[in-house]
Amino acid sequence: MDAPAIYRDSLVWDDHCGFEMLPDAPLAPLLKPWREAGVDYLSINVGYDVKAWTRTIENIAALRRRLPTEAPFCRLVSTVSEIDQARADGKLAVTFDIEGMDALAGRTDMVQLYYDLGVRHMLFAYNRNNLAGSGCHDEDTGLTDFGRQVIVEMNRVGMVVDCSHSGFKTTMAAMEISADPVVFSHSNPKALVDHGRNITDEQIKACAATGGVIGINGVNLFLGEEVPSPSNVARHAAYIAELTGPEHVGLSLDFAPKEEDTEDDASGNQESSDVSGSIARNPHYWPPGTGYEKGVSYLDIRRLPDIATELATVGFRKSEIAGILGGNFRRIAEQVWK
Ligand SMILES: [Zn+2]
Repeated sequence: MDAPAIYRDSLVWDDHCGFEMLPDAPLAPLLKPWREAGVDYLSINVGYDVKAWTRTIENIAALRRRLPTEAPFCRLVSTVSEIDQARADGKLAVTFDIEGMDALAGRTDMVQLYYDLGVRHMLFAYNRNNLAGSGCHDEDTGLTDFGRQVIVEMNRVGMVVDCSHSGFKTTMAAMEISADPVVFSHSNPKALVDHGRNITDEQIKACAATGGVIGINGVNLFLGEEVPSPSNVARHAAYIAELTGPEHVGLSLDFAPKEEDTEDDASGNQESSDVSGSIARNPHYWPPGTGYEKGVSYLDIRRLPDIATELATVGFRKSEIAGILGGNFRRIAEQVWK
């Protein structure tokens, strides 16, 4: 099978990146790796519960204002047909996602606002409990009434409900309630690697039952190897496909470029797009003993073509590889976005 040709001919979709967006971040060096990888669509993470929710607004403002001039190889899109058009024009289509409902400041009204600004999926709680539900590294108290109201509003607005980073009970309730397909944008199977961020077979099957997709994460801790490899991403994809069928598998490598590749000054600013500093300063969100303290490493997004090859090696057919590379997440967007 000609995996490089399949890669070239497929829509390539990365549903989540792992750098910490900052309003003054130099955008071109931050996003160039996705262009170099031949990715057609990227969801940029614009905020998470670790930072004040107003930072999410600042990040969206910065991206909307500066992306067209500073990273003209990208194009902000709002529909699936605009993604297809961007691909035809040789542009990297971009929308946003949010990790944690602290960003709503307690108001369901905010869902429509974020959608109008380009946010297409949002998860409940970033590792720790919040107003909407439980995080995966906290006491599993479940979905709150506010979390339930948000799901109803997300369904109305057309924003995809994302269960990554959230506690088991919260996710099972969310998948029960949502009228639309639900995703785990970037979560790996716990049966292969027993880490709190990974998800059980029961969660994987419940996600598929909604019609949803699970995106394979490229972070070393969740793949269970020191240096993340394309073959291991394919192994995790094959495990989920075995449980659910290949149409419920996608890719979300959670990649963050190395700090030295994105720094543009020596201002001494403590903030950077490298999450390792945030991990060290915020043990509440990344509890000691869960592996983060040893440092995380990412599978470089530029190795995405190698993943296509490895997917062929583990036995996926051409149409199945195209689905995993992007067709499956595209289907969710077509069903849910309005
Ligand atoms: Zn994440």
